[in-house]
Amino acid sequence: MKKLAKHLFCPVCKKHGLSVSEHIIDEPQFFPEGIIEIHYKCESCGFSATDVYPLKKGKPSKITFKVESLDELGVRVVKSSTATLTIPEIGGTIKPGEIAEGYITNVEGVLERFEKVFASEPAALSKLRQLKQEANFTLVLEDPGGNSRILSAKAVSEPI
Ligand SMILES: [Zn+2]
Repeated sequence: MKKLAKHLFCPVCKKHGLSVSEHIIDEPQFFPEGIIEIHYKCESCGFSATDVYPLKKGKPSKITFKVESLDELGVRVVKSSTATLTIPEIGGTIKPGEIAEGYITNVEGVLERFEKVFASEPAALSKLRQLKQEANFTLVLEDPGGNSRILSAKAVSEPI
């Protein structure tokens, strides 16, 4: 982990306690182009967040991935802080918030995040669990920043 900057303005407590560090993920079998993970941490209020950037910047894109087998729940997903995730089958969307995070996960991890977002909606929750069991649904990742990826040859990327 390499420290890039410190004493930056913190968006939460508004003091100059934010430090930024980077960590290069070197796992060529998953990320042939290389991924940088950025960590933000505020020494003043404890706020912390992460974001991810491929070393090779992409274009604004909409990536669609049709999940058709349980194996595909393991497909890696790089979701940058500017991306919106949608599962059309439940009509559900996770939009970037004011202090959005970027992260690396897999398709199953994306479903778990949807389960948290829709925790108070029993109908959406049971549909999510059914989709996961049947491994039959679509994941749409729309990123105007161009930094998101779904690491499968089956994923279809279109410019936006
Ligand atoms: Zn702070």
